Parts: sequence; structure tokens; C-alpha cells
Amino acid sequence: MVKVYTIASGKGGTGKTTVSVNLGTMLAKMGKETYLMDADIGMANVGLILGLQDAPVTLHEILAGKNNIDEGIYTGPAGLKVIPSGISLQGFQQADPDKIRDVMSEIVKRCEFLLIDAPAGISKDGVVPLAVADEVILVVNPELSSIVDALKTKILTEVVGGHVLGSIINRVDQDKSDVISRKMEKVLGVKVLGIIPEDSNVRRAAAARSPIVVSYPDSPASKAIHRIAADLIGVS
Ligand code: ADP
Ligand code: MG
Repeated sequence: MVKVYTIASGKGGTGKTTVSVNLGTMLAKMGKETYLMDADIGMANVGLILGLQDAPVTLHEILAGKNNIDEGIYTGPAGLKVIPSGISLQGFQQADPDKIRDVMSEIVKRCEFLLIDAPAGISKDGVVPLAVADEVILVVNPELSSIVDALKTKILTEVVGGHVLGSIINRVDQDKSDVISRKMEKVLGVKVLGIIPEDSNVRRAAAARSPIVVSYPDSPASKAIHRIAADLIGVS
């Protein structure tokens, strides 16, 4: 069964794109037909991280009705299929977020997993990915503002008819992970799906335009992502 997961947060910079790119690559590495769509159409980063910044057709053109979906699909690491977004302001203005639902309906016919990298915030382009996914995964940092914004995003997801599967706590100091996990479940009221430690290899991998699960597969963050992917495959 196809599973569409939107990777969201509320607050910016919590690690949504890092999780989306690496979880997608890991699922592909584990033999699953996986697509990753960069629905952060205002601040697109997936293409940058994967070296697809010069992609001639992006989600911008697809959402503007200028190109069809097939023209905006690129093959990434481990065979991950990537639909990057564009970086131009004009492209953003012309893209219609409501069309994300149509793109999604087409993609789910072709894959086992579709990950949607969502923007921060609660504007329209941020809300549509919360509503259309089978499940929303909240990427949250262990700090108050991130937790408050994640809670708001959880409530918003439910208001628009979506469902939150759980949270991934990112950038955790390993020694404190048990306490943080218990607290997070209590405050957010959803299961903690995984804990990703603070790991300097994340930045190195991004600079090298390669997912950490490919360039540093034995790093602590890669191992954490492997566990999360294995759990998702188990429940899909
Ligand atoms: P978002 O998509 O939520 O805005 P990003 O995935 O772009 O967040 O991550 C924001 C920054 O945090 C990036 O510079 C990224 O390299 C860094 N980062 C993310 N996760 C980790 C981690 N586990 N350890 C260290 N740095 C991280
Ligand atoms: Mg991002």
C-alpha cells in the first residue's frame, strides 16, 4: 500500500529537508520505490542538497500548469525519484499549491512511498501538504519554540482533516534522549517515531551535495534514520 508522508514542523530549520532527503534515500536503499516531492515551494532546498539546483523543470512549473509531472522527475541517490522545487520568486508566485493534490494522486500510482517536504509556517502552501498526506510526521527540536510550533501544526493538521503519525526529535544530545522522548510524547500527544542526534556529518554531507545515509552511512544520524525507515516499512 502506498503511503504518503508529509514531513512538517511549524518552525523553520528543525530538519524537515534533512529528514525528507535522508529518509527518502534510505527507503530507496532498502528497495522501496520512493518519491520525494519538495513542497517547500517558497524556500526550496531539496534540489540544493541533492545537486539538482539546475533542474530545468521543477514543481513550480508543474503547479503553474506549464509542464507535466513526468518532466519534473529526476533520479537521485539509490534510485530515489525526486521532484525538486524551483528557487525563483516568480516561479513561486505562479505555482498553485492546490495542484499538489493532483501531483500526489498521479505519483502514488507509481510508488510505495511518497515523502513530501513541507514548508514551515501556516500559509496555504504549508497547509495543503498537511491535508493531503496519509500521515504527517512532525520534525521537532528539543527546544520550547519548536515544540510549541509543532503542537500548533498538529492541531492545524487535525483541523484540515489530516492525521499526525508521530514526531521525530532532531538534533538531540544523545545523553538526554530518554527524558526528552518522554516529555515530547506528553506535550505533543503523539508517538516519538525516532530520535536523531546532533551530528556534524549532516552539514558535511549537505555541503558535499549527498545525503548523509550515502556519504556517512555509519554516522549516528544515519543509524537513527535507518531505524525510522525500517519501522515505516514495517507498518506500511
Ligand atoms: P528545515 O528543512 O526544517 O528548514 P533543514 O533540514 O534545512 O531544516 O536543517 C536546518 C539546518 O540544520 C541545516 O543546516 C542542517 O544541516 C542542520 N541539521 C539538521 N539536522 C541536523 C542534525 N541532526 N545534526 C546537525 N545538524 C543538523
Ligand atoms: Mg527545508
